[in-house]
Amino acid sequence: MVCPHCRVALDVVRCCPNCARCYPVDHGIVDFAEGAYYDRFDESTALTCEHLEGLQLEVEGTRRRILDFYLPKLQAGARVLDCGCGNGVSVDLLNERGLDAWGNDLSQLRKWQWREREHRDRLVVASALSLPFADDFFDVVISSGVIEHIGVDETSVPRYGVAPRADRDELRARFLRELLRVGRTIYIDCPNGAFPIDFWHGDAPGSARFHSLREGFLPTFREIASLAPDARVEALSPYKRLQFRQAARHWYGRAFGGVGELYFRLMPRAIARSALNPFLVVEIRKVSER
Ligand SMILES: [Zn+2]
Repeated sequence: MVCPHCRVALDVVRCCPNCARCYPVDHGIVDFAEGAYYDRFDESTALTCEHLEGLQLEVEGTRRRILDFYLPKLQAGARVLDCGCGNGVSVDLLNERGLDAWGNDLSQLRKWQWREREHRDRLVVASALSLPFADDFFDVVISSGVIEHIGVDETSVPRYGVAPRADRDELRARFLRELLRVGRTIYIDCPNGAFPIDFWHGDAPGSARFHSLREGFLPTFREIASLAPDARVEALSPYKRLQFRQAARHWYGRAFGGVGELYFRLMPRAIARSALNPFLVVEIRKVSER
């Protein structure tokens, strides 16, 4: 691991020989956040039943995302980062299958949750905008449901609301530059901003949130491509990435689930990048200068 400020290799006690910052290690997890977590959590924080149920549901979602969708795209033994890995389950799943998998998140809740993980030495508390890894350290970087949260202010009370910040585009461009610095192939996935319904952010899991196309929250394919001007960028069908599990709690999920599966299985790339696809999976390949 390297110092996220200096990009110099850390010594055995996780101190930087250049700037002398030392990064604390707790339960085997190195913390590069320097207190700048996006949430606040400690052992005395009481989690509600809804929150605990949500965390439980998330585990199955991670299994489907990783095992059904991303694992078949990865070469045996590849070094992989799940950037914004949340519960960290992806890192255990991929390491169990012979990949050299790492994960990061900037959350105190996640840091506490990671004590249950097997491969805690592969989990780091770090911002996606300055990662503690050397250039080209990873073959592949996966980042699911992260980009849309960069550069926006979100509220959940009394209802879900979101507004872009003035520096949104600069922060999102920095995010992609950082992923392309540490990895050769990047997969970004998120709900498609060109599609008028968002099933992933709202007042309840899987509920439909109708939004303006000028909301400034969910990116479009074109917006993501414009953030990586020197890379090869393609949209993939979200077949198997979307499995309608949470939407199945709602009438539209039950009504369209089977048809949706078929639609995604047959989806050509030209449709995958368009407003006819509710969920973007974008593959970004660094073009080598050599
Ligand atoms: Zn340093």
